[in-house]
Amino acid sequence: GAARNRPQRLRAYQRGEDEAYLRRLFLVERLKRALVRDDGALFLTYQPKLDLARGRIDRVEALVRWVDDEHGFISPDEFVPLAEQSGLIIKLTRWVVRSVLRQLALWNASGLHLGVAINVSAQDICHEQFIDSLLHELRESGVRHEQVTLEITERDLMDNEALAVEQLTALKAAGFRIAVDDYGVGYSSLSKLKQLPVDELKIDKSFILQLPESEQDQNIVSSTIELGHKLGLKVVAEGVETSAGLDLLRAMRCDSVQGYHLARPMSAEDLTQWYASYAQTA
Ligand code: C2E
Ligand code: MG
Ligand code: MG
Ligand code: MG
Repeated sequence: GAARNRPQRLRAYQRGEDEAYLRRLFLVERLKRALVRDDGALFLTYQPKLDLARGRIDRVEALVRWVDDEHGFISPDEFVPLAEQSGLIIKLTRWVVRSVLRQLALWNASGLHLGVAINVSAQDICHEQFIDSLLHELRESGVRHEQVTLEITERDLMDNEALAVEQLTALKAAGFRIAVDDYGVGYSSLSKLKQLPVDELKIDKSFILQLPESEQDQNIVSSTIELGHKLGLKVVAEGVETSAGLDLLRAMRCDSVQGYHLARPMSAEDLTQWYASYAQTA
């Protein structure tokens, strides 16, 4: 019965814990290696954002991908937190920034003028060299400040409030756009939001995925959009998977949308082609 099962279950549990721990250790080592070698295991994908008022693709979000020789595809939802816990995030973000700006410079040169959003963590922006190295990379690439949006999650921001707000203020003063990512799942109050030096709210996809079916999500999203606008912010919805969702967001005066309905994240080459055919039909 129960008494006999318990030690066994405990052992199984511990074994599971050990395995998870070993996997984390292993992944951190592999990630370190991937960053040093820069041999294609890490690469970037880009997902377009549609500006609803203009009916134009004006920005893309850069999303990092990692395919390890041994472990195959590893989700950024798994390895980005590991990079944060192990301190590797500084190097990872530096790699992302450099690679994204290089790509943006190529697009600029070919006459394709897109803005790009880069995901950063509070650790990144609080790092003393972050702004300098970002400015350095900008100069090297010839990309303009206003082409770059930095996305930081609401939760990350609130967990590191004092320092993060100070750094964001400096970044905004330097000319970068700032977006609060995954908005709505954190716990920032209205008064906090007002004090933050941000340009854009990105409503978390958990409120968007079932938008057409959920009256509750519709209420939350429409009031978030109104609130954002009252605070002078642009509001973006991520996770738009259906035309019904898109129609609702348009009616709610959402500023931009991003999601599988429009396009999945894709390689730079695929995005260039996708954009050309999209621009033709639009
Ligand atoms: P995020 O910044 O909130 O990015 C949006 C996520 O939603 C992406 O997942 C994207 O692929 C996914 N997505 C977009 N449209 C849809 C849709 O219509 N339906 C669904 N179900 N999902 C959609 P991804 O690429 O797996 O990234 C997960 C998270 O990992 C990101 O969430 C971000 O927090 C983090 N991340 C990704 N790339 C980077 C990076 O370069 N640096 C850092 N620091 N974090 C990153
Ligand atoms: Mg993001
Ligand atoms: Mg998000
Ligand atoms: Mg997210």
